[in-house]
Amino acid sequence: MESYEATIGLEVHVQLKTRTKAFCACATTFGAAPNSQTCPVCLGHPGTLPVLNAEALRLATRAAAALGCELADTVTFDRKNYFYVDLPKGFQISQHFGAVGLGGQVAYWDLEGFGTIPLERVHLEEDVAKAIHDEAYVRSGETLLDFNRAGVPLMEVVSKPAMTSAGEARRYIVALRQTLIEAGVSDCDLDKGAFRIDTNISVKRRGAAELGEQVEIKNLNSIRAMEDALAYEYERQGAILRAGGAVQRETRLFDEGTGETRVMRTKEVRADYRFFAEPDLPSVHLTAAYIENARAGLGPAPADRIRELREAYAATSAEAEMLAFTPGYYEFLTATAAHIRGERRPIVNWMVGDITRELNERGVALADCRLAPAGLAALLTLVESGTINVAAAREVLAIMMSAGGEPGAIVEARGLGQISDPAIIESIVREALAANPKAVADMKAGKEKAKGAIVGFVMKKTSGRANPEVVNASIVKLLGEY
Ligand code: ZN
Ligand code: MN
Repeated sequence: MESYEATIGLEVHVQLKTRTKAFCACATTFGAAPNSQTCPVCLGHPGTLPVLNAEALRLATRAAAALGCELADTVTFDRKNYFYVDLPKGFQISQHFGAVGLGGQVAYWDLEGFGTIPLERVHLEEDVAKAIHDEAYVRSGETLLDFNRAGVPLMEVVSKPAMTSAGEARRYIVALRQTLIEAGVSDCDLDKGAFRIDTNISVKRRGAAELGEQVEIKNLNSIRAMEDALAYEYERQGAILRAGGAVQRETRLFDEGTGETRVMRTKEVRADYRFFAEPDLPSVHLTAAYIENARAGLGPAPADRIRELREAYAATSAEAEMLAFTPGYYEFLTATAAHIRGERRPIVNWMVGDITRELNERGVALADCRLAPAGLAALLTLVESGTINVAAAREVLAIMMSAGGEPGAIVEARGLGQISDPAIIESIVREALAANPKAVADMKAGKEKAKGAIVGFVMKKTSGRANPEVVNASIVKLLGEY
């Protein structure tokens, strides 16, 4: 059977986190009474003039920088003309001839490795009114309009058609969302319509140079819906091609109930939006200082942090995600590593293990406890050098997290130092062997587990301070005598 492959591109509309709209002073508060946040500008009254919201431009510039785009030094706006009820003025203010950012990329990660999806552009535009027809309170054949959303600043992120599966599209979306949330430009809340995904997918014979006919799927409400819609389309188009048919160029809707797509409209020709420069908005020159300011504080991309955690810290992929995305963890971990010369893996163990458990038990965030990176590094050095054992280190850690303090001083004050002197340990091991003849017999019969009784005896006697390695060596050395 012939093999087919998908070519997928995604366009995402992201609502920027501004208090007011893109070209007027109306509020953007989610969930306000319908049409309560409107004015003549966002209602499209003739003769009104738009004024650019500086914060919208700053956030779009910052997002474009976070996505590695080439940034525009002059920002211009254009009119995208079309007629629909959600847009009474007859055009949407967008960026067609210019864009805040060109190119760029989103790096994603998965269990096996990493991938990069190149971007086409990132541009700024305004949202349109929300048309409501599916709700129970709308009479059939009628459409209600809420203009609270009209004029809200959107950033459109257009990928190149570079994805080949629904799973890859999901990984791209997860990485894109994470990047934008971390950059602080949007909440990317899918449930509130702040992150809306449009897709295009074509299917061709594997290896063929020419792309198949493109189908668009719009109005996807969740990442799950996007993945299901793309998987369904891949199968549907593949079946048509296998049967010798031709895929129609069209826009389809995904029905979450049935898991199928259905035709929304057939596109014989590309819509002509008669783009032209918006005469009511001047172009804006962005200085180098402005751009520098907009990118201030951007950290490494999510995929770069995941890679660093997996490769330099030997974290598993689940640990890497947890450490990369729990607030404050990555910064804390790398700051701790800066104080440590030896293995970095123990930092991962302590952070995903005891530190997280302590924080969860107390219901506090890492930033709110007394532990500092230098303190953790000093504690790990005490374990590494054999000054204290792991059990004692747990005790010291709990004190450091609640009351603060320097680990060496805590060990001193509480007498938690590890006992490594073989003479002392051997005398306790002798005691243990003499008191446990059954364990001795079992060990001699090759039952490794029986050793636990001896180790337990020694640890109890030393309040857990015995060096486990010395205890084990003493047991091996002395077993024959009993
Ligand atoms: Zn307004
Ligand atoms: Mn758009």
